[in-house]
Amino acid sequence: MNRIDRAFDTRPDLEREWLQDNTWCDACGEADLGMTSPYEYEQDGRIYVEGQRRRCGRQVRSEVKVENAG
Ligand SMILES: [Zn+2]
Repeated sequence: MNRIDRAFDTRPDLEREWLQDNTWCDACGEADLGMTSPYEYEQDGRIYVEGQRRRCGRQVRSEVKVENAG
């Protein structure tokens, strides 16, 4: 339930680009059109990036799949 803020800005450039590009918009029915103003947080053990769609301005949220560190 409670959100934990995470530092999206500290991710490497490539990761940030990938996360901002790989989006899905229910309203447009299209993927990978990109988002602006990304904001990263953790909720219920999952990590999400939320932002505004470049095309329609709607809010979108993508889950970030955590890779094994190590
Ligand atoms: Zn859209």
